[in-house]
Amino acid sequence: MLRSVDDSTPVRSAPHAALTFTAPPEVRVLSDILPDDPLLMMGAGPVPIPEAVARANSVVINHLGATMSTIISQVKEMGRYVFQTKSEWVMGVAGPGSAAMEMAISNLVLPGHKVLCVVNGFFSARMAEMSRRLGAEVITFDVDGHHYAPADEVEALIAKHRPECLTIVQGETSNTVFNRELPAIARAAKKYGCLVIVDAVCTLSTMPLQMDDWQIDAVITGGQKGLSSIPGVSLIAFSNEAWDRINSRTTTNSHWCLDAKLAENFWHKGGYHYTAPVSGVLALHEALRLVCAETLEERFARHYRCSQALQNGIEAMGLRLFTPPTSRLNSVVGIAIPDGMNNADICAHISNRYHVEISGSFGLPMVRIGQMGEQCRAHNLFRTLHALGSTVRDMGGKVDLPASMATLEYSLHNALV
Ligand SMILES: *Cc1c(COP(=O)(O)O)cnc(C)c1O
Repeated sequence: MLRSVDDSTPVRSAPHAALTFTAPPEVRVLSDILPDDPLLMMGAGPVPIPEAVARANSVVINHLGATMSTIISQVKEMGRYVFQTKSEWVMGVAGPGSAAMEMAISNLVLPGHKVLCVVNGFFSARMAEMSRRLGAEVITFDVDGHHYAPADEVEALIAKHRPECLTIVQGETSNTVFNRELPAIARAAKKYGCLVIVDAVCTLSTMPLQMDDWQIDAVITGGQKGLSSIPGVSLIAFSNEAWDRINSRTTTNSHWCLDAKLAENFWHKGGYHYTAPVSGVLALHEALRLVCAETLEERFARHYRCSQALQNGIEAMGLRLFTPPTSRLNSVVGIAIPDGMNNADICAHISNRYHVEISGSFGLPMVRIGQMGEQCRAHNLFRTLHALGSTVRDMGGKVDLPASMATLEYSLHNALV
């Protein structure tokens, strides 16, 4: 940093002159810490970001005023498109996907409410835990065996318990399960006046989600997965019915930062709630703009084509996909660990040797490769699949790498989408 001579001249009479301070720590500069050849981020998030998103993320502007107001109104407008809703209650959240999750739940669930939580894995269990912490009476429907939740079974539970809210994840990133009957589940819940909260952190903009048509009341997403933005700035949408429930609350939300009525000041009234993470909102703006430029139809087709080709390539290598086809998520692909290996070793080797980052799992015998946003590009797929096959081979496993690469190429170019 440049300083003038005057800046660096100590002022003997400054208020702190008589104080003693501990010495500042000696740390390494970032360029010494970060690898020269950056890792290709092909795990379960965060995912690579486009250049426009990175550039926007380096800009700081006033968090209030005319420029920000234009940005906010465009983020909401693009958010409505991505969520496929006409509801005006779209907002950004400073915080991870989990903060958006807690915002949805803490504004809609009151102490003593019954909440039916469909639990397929780690992230859907988090929504049950958040509901419990709010003092709700939580009924969990634990779906075992890495399976999607069947709509008829969920509807029977709704009819029996008559919950005020239902929570469900569209794609369970933790074990790569896809809740394919989400539309029927959401519509069934609405027949009983039950509000529906959907976690679409990994799936939004990677596969269809029709908020209005499916009658969903709150959808949440993070930045760092399907949208290919930065982590730490998230997006939420409430339906009109959800907003009515928020307006009719007689007690305030105990989470001040996550209070939707306070957030309304900033996101709808040009006022102040907390200082918005302006750079992150600009990054999110660019990520959403790129989704709009691509169109949802094209983006879903790209994700489908890439994920299918990757899955075909993995199987052609001789490895096994973790989740059965009927429940399999495309946004994150789970690969069963070959006998005698463990996921920590595989992840470490592929990262150290091939500079490709993939994810282990929460105690399950699999590794995960993400297919979200920028991860769904042919050049990333070729490099990742080759690195995975080479890793298993380096570790003494048997794989057919040429067949795998040929299958990837064939599938990418002959996909029926
Ligand atoms: C990643 C993820 C979350 C949590 O998001 P954070 O940004 O880590 O809080 C929640 N749900 C799903 C489905 C996810 O994939």
